[in-house]
Amino acid sequence: GKMGIVGASGFIGAELVRQASIAGWEIVGYSRSARAPGDGVSEWREWSDDPDLSGLQVIVNLAGEGIDKRWTESRKKRFRESRVGVVDTIVGALEREEQRPGVFLNGTAVGIYGDRGDELLDERAAFGDGYLAELCRDWEKAADRAADLGVRVLQWRTGVVFGHGGAAWTKMRAAFSLGAGGRLGKGGQWMPWIHLEDLVAGMLYMLGEDYAGPVNSCAPEPERNRDLTRKFAAALKRPAFMHVPAWALKLVLGGFAESLLASQHAVPKVLLERGFKFRYPTLEAALSELVVE
Ligand code: NDP
Repeated sequence: GKMGIVGASGFIGAELVRQASIAGWEIVGYSRSARAPGDGVSEWREWSDDPDLSGLQVIVNLAGEGIDKRWTESRKKRFRESRVGVVDTIVGALEREEQRPGVFLNGTAVGIYGDRGDELLDERAAFGDGYLAELCRDWEKAADRAADLGVRVLQWRTGVVFGHGGAAWTKMRAAFSLGAGGRLGKGGQWMPWIHLEDLVAGMLYMLGEDYAGPVNSCAPEPERNRDLTRKFAAALKRPAFMHVPAWALKLVLGGFAESLLASQHAVPKVLLERGFKFRYPTLEAALSELVVE
């Protein structure tokens, strides 16, 4: 069948293209810029206000402007537009389509839970508060409208993604390599994380399951920031004495600091219950793959 991917040119999108094409899917990529077929994408269609979703069995949304920059008002507009706006456009196109795709997988984030201390968060946990939580909630609500059209909607709530070429791994490795790695704030906050390969393998697995609703896309063993720091330092054979106090983080990063200091003890209950096997269930396993270039 055909799988349409909005954001196919991105970090997560490219890995989905790779794994889904190997699994036999014909890939239709959507991009704001003109691109030539290749690298697993058999056809590129223009991303516009009225995208052509014809002929697809599945539509996946992996678009979104990166939030790891200072949250200025103009950026906040673009964060929203590239998430809620993109989903509104997809749902509008689904409404107009006569032969709709049967599934819409919408890539959102564990940020939907806000800042929750040690509370164990599975997919039934309540939404949290704060800028990111509210953005994620609106992002999912926009996608839920596709369910009214009879489309099976999966809300893919991802934690920090570690993978080759990704921003999180690249930046953290650089900092630790300079001996500048360290815990953020008090370091007690839980950080749901996932290896890129598992994230995408989980998507393909759940597309084959009879399930609609939210899916926590994080490893079964989340880490507190201070333990994650210690394990990064050990894997990279570097010290990590540094400690970035919360106030300094806020001063330098502004709103983005909120997301690094927030605690989400999220667990992938749906993936585990459905029998998905993680290749990198522990941070040690993920790091031992990542440190090899
Ligand atoms: P990337 O920045 O690598 O890719 C995002 C893609 O989105 C781009 O390639 C771009 O495609 C497309 N895009 C950006 N802005 C717009 C827009 N306004 N309209 C349409 N398309 C747009 O991001 P990632 O792959 O890292 O992440 C994808 C999504 O997953 C994001 O929403 C992100 O917030 C979320 N996520 C990511 C995590 C991570 O650790 N990476 C963690 C949790 C969630 P083009 O330029 O070709 O149009």
